[in-house]
Amino acid sequence: MGEASVAGVAVDTRHWIGGRRVASPGTFTDLSPIDEQPLAEVARGGEAEVAQAVQAAGEAFPGWAATAPAGRAAVLHAIADGIERRIEDLSQVETRDNGSLLRSHRRSVMPRVAQNFRFFADWLGELDGGGLEISGHREQVSWAPAGVTAVITPWNAPLMLATWRIAPALAAGNTVVAKPPEWAPLSASLLAGITRDAGLPDGVFNVVQGLGREAGAALAAHPDVARVAFTGSAATGRLIAAAAGAQLTPVSLELGGKSPLLVFADADLDLAVGHAAGQYDNAGQVCLAGTRLLVEEPVGGDFTARFTERAAALRQGDPREEATDIGPNITREHLARVDGFVRRAVAAGARPLLGGAVNPALGGLYYQPTLLAGAEPGSEILTEEVFGPVLTIQTFTGDTGRAERVSARLRAGTVWVNCFFVRDLRAPFGGAGLSGIGREGGTWSFDFYADVKNTVYAGQGWRAGGAGSNAAPAVSRRRGRPPPVPDGAPPARPERGASRRASGATHHEGGKGVEQRG
Ligand code: NAD
Repeated sequence: MGEASVAGVAVDTRHWIGGRRVASPGTFTDLSPIDEQPLAEVARGGEAEVAQAVQAAGEAFPGWAATAPAGRAAVLHAIADGIERRIEDLSQVETRDNGSLLRSHRRSVMPRVAQNFRFFADWLGELDGGGLEISGHREQVSWAPAGVTAVITPWNAPLMLATWRIAPALAAGNTVVAKPPEWAPLSASLLAGITRDAGLPDGVFNVVQGLGREAGAALAAHPDVARVAFTGSAATGRLIAAAAGAQLTPVSLELGGKSPLLVFADADLDLAVGHAAGQYDNAGQVCLAGTRLLVEEPVGGDFTARFTERAAALRQGDPREEATDIGPNITREHLARVDGFVRRAVAAGARPLLGGAVNPALGGLYYQPTLLAGAEPGSEILTEEVFGPVLTIQTFTGDTGRAERVSARLRAGTVWVNCFFVRDLRAPFGGAGLSGIGREGGTWSFDFYADVKNTVYAGQGWRAGGAGSNAAPAVSRRRGRPPPVPDGAPPARPERGASRRASGATHHEGGKGVEQRG
C-alpha cells in the first residue's frame, strides 16, 4: 500500500505533507473510467491529516512569503520545466484516472499545466502598483502574501484546474494545501514529486487525499486557512462558502454552468456546426460547455441536419487511442445521473435526434453523444447542468442581432463570438450568478491570493533613500515596467477582520482621496 503502478508510472498514493509522504489508516479505491477496474488504493485523509498539512503550510509560510518575487518565480519555472519533462507520464496517468483523451493531455492540457506556472511566475514582474500622486501624497499598491491557501478541485481536468489555482497562490507568496478530487486523485501526487525536485521548500505545497465530505470539508472549515480556492459544483460551493464564511475566510468559487451557444441566421454555419459539435469535448464534462444550442429559426433545419451529420461521425471509444474523439464518463454514479436527466427529459416530451443512451457497442461508461429537441421551456434539461455528452437544441426568431448588443445583455463571465475556448491567461475568468464568485487570471488572481495594500506616503518628512523618499515615486512614472512589488517581506498579518473593523470605525475617505481621521 502507498504506491501504485499506473501505465508503468509509479504513483505514491499517500498524502504529501511538510515534504514527506504520510499514510492514513484508511484508503479509498480509485477506479479507471476506461474499464471500471481499480487503479490504486489512495490514502483517505480527514481532520487529522488536514490539521497536519495546514500546520506544515503555516510553518513554511513566513519563509516562502519572504522569498523575493524573483526567487519564487525561479522555482515556479523549475516546476514548469519538471512538468514539461513528464508530460508523457502525466498524460498517461491522467487519462487512465479520469478518462479524458490521451491526445488532448499530451498536446494541450499538460503543456497548459506547465504554462499555468510560467504565466504566474512571469506575471509577478508585470504587477503594477501604479503610484498615484494625490495632494502631495503618493499611493503605492502592493500585493502582500496572504497565508495558507486551500485548493479544492474537481476531476474533469484534475491537474489543469488544480494548477490554475495552485500556481498563482504560490506566486503570490502563499503556501498551499490541495485536496484533489477523489474520482481522479493521482496526478496531484505526481505534481508533489515535481515540486520537490524543483526545489520548492518543504511545506510550501501539500496534498491531502480523501473524500470531499471528510478531507475537503475539514480543509474549507480550518480556521488557519487564509484563502479558499474552490472549483466544483454549485451545491458543494454553497457548503464551502458557508464553512469559510463562518470565519470570514475569503473564497473564490468557480462553479458549474449551463451556457448557451447562439447561432444567428447570418452565421457561418460550418463554423457554428464545428463549435457546436466541439461541445461534446471531454464527454461533455466541461463547466464552460455551451450545451444549449439556440439557433435562429430560418437556419434551424439546415443547422440541425449539418450538426447531426457532423456529430454522428465523432468516434467514441478508448481515450488512449489517437482516433478517439469522445471517451467515457467518469463513474457509474455520474453516468446514472447523466442518463437520469435524459430519461426524464424524454419522458417529458423531448425527442432524441442523436444518442440518448449508453453506447450499445461499448457499454461501460460510454454514453453516446446526445442531442435532444423539443424540450419544454423551463424544464429540467434546459436549466440544470448535466455534465455529460448531452446537448439540447431550440430555435428562436428575431432580427439578426449584433454580437455586441447581445453580449452586453448576457449575464455571463465570458462571451465568445464566432469562437470557443479562446482564453488569454491575462484576462479575467469566472462565472456570473450560480456559476461562481470572483475572477481570476492575470492581476485578478493576485487580487484574490494576496492582501492588496495601498500605502500612502506623505510627500515630505522622510529620510532621503527611505521608503517614502523622493526616489520611490518613480514607480508612478514607470507604468508597465516591472515594479518592486509584490511584497517580498513577510506581512505583519493582523487577525482577519480586525483590521477591516478598525479602519471602518476610525477612518473615512476624504473628498480628495486623502485618508483622514473620522
Ligand atoms: P464537486 O463539487 O462534487 O467536487 C469538487 C471538489 O470538492 C472535489 O475535490 C470534492 O472532493 C470536493 N468536495 C465535495 N464535497 C465537499 C464538501 N462538503 N466540502 C469540501 N469539499 C468537498 O464537483 P465535481 O463533481 O467534482 O465536479 C463537477 C462540477 O465542477 C461541475 O458542476 C462543473 O461545472 C464544475 N466545474 C467548474 C469549473 C469552473 O472553472 N467554473 C471547472 C471545472 C468543473
